[in-house]
Amino acid sequence: LSSRVGLGPNSGGVPASGGSLSNLMALVCARQAAELAADPSAVVLTGSAAHVSLNKAATVMGLPPDGLQCLQTDADGRLQPEVVARAIQQLRSAGRKPFALVAVAGTTVQGSVDPLIDLAALCRREQLWLHVDGAIGAVCALVDSQRWRVDGIEHADSITLNPQKVLGVSKPSSVLLMRNVELLQTSFATGLPYMESGDGPQGGDLGLQGTRSAEVLKLWLSLQRLGLDGIERILDQAFHRAEYLRSLLTAPQLQLLPGDLHLLAIGLQPHLADRAQLWRDHTHGLLHQQGFWLSRPDLDGRPLLKAVLGNPFTNEDHLEHLAGIINRSAGEVS
Ligand SMILES: *Cc1c(COP(=O)(O)O)cnc(C)c1O
Repeated sequence: LSSRVGLGPNSGGVPASGGSLSNLMALVCARQAAELAADPSAVVLTGSAAHVSLNKAATVMGLPPDGLQCLQTDADGRLQPEVVARAIQQLRSAGRKPFALVAVAGTTVQGSVDPLIDLAALCRREQLWLHVDGAIGAVCALVDSQRWRVDGIEHADSITLNPQKVLGVSKPSSVLLMRNVELLQTSFATGLPYMESGDGPQGGDLGLQGTRSAEVLKLWLSLQRLGLDGIERILDQAFHRAEYLRSLLTAPQLQLLPGDLHLLAIGLQPHLADRAQLWRDHTHGLLHQQGFWLSRPDLDGRPLLKAVLGNPFTNEDHLEHLAGIINRSAGEVS
């Protein structure tokens, strides 16, 4: 996976029970590589739409309360390099030590992809570790026809990729991919004095988890079954479904948030903000009665419905039925 994504000859990775754990391990390696493990001035930067698992990682790592700084994203939910550059400067002049940037390839609500090429260039210039949280979107880098969606991901120092998200591998299935796989061992090795390891590193020395189930087997089996063609077909169809649903949601009261992947976040127009929560919860109930399950995230205080269009069994009839319910329910808001 790591060479397919383009991480180069020294790359490799480790499976993990979920993306939260992959993100945590990546940041531990980043801090270790920066030799800031015991330094309270260390800071991780990310965008305001980043996943909550980063807050957990900061807690476990013992970063101070402002050791994870979530910077404002733009109207499309993307983190812009100028914003990061300014934050780095301000932090440094205040005596802090920013050591890692977490860019997101597929935010959880909107499916936005941060501008990875420019952020990677900035990280190189400023000597920050670039971790790409591609739990949702990194899988695009596996197939040539979808790679453009996550261009620049190959410059990352580490990447979280969750086959449990769009590839349908049963949960949990996550991998942490590393540009320099030896750093996993540098960060986590204990020598495991009571274990016999044969050739090469002991698996329990490559990350936080020691003994674990053979989770990687179901990923391996899925990859054998799907092949790159199968992955490409899954992605093509998921993106097609998202575009089709977007085209069907035509009620003028609706506002569809921009997004780069197979997620679609749906809200009411800003001038209907005071009706938005009631509408969202009412529509959620109507959809549920008809066998549809959309989630109900709030983004910057804004109530939304969110459709995730990765299920290969969701067809156009389903989407037309779904859009009909949402359009009618939005049409009743005045
Ligand atoms: C789902 C998700 C995660 C966390 O993955 P878990 O497997 O639930 O721990 C991390 N980042 C992003 C962007 C996600 O969407």
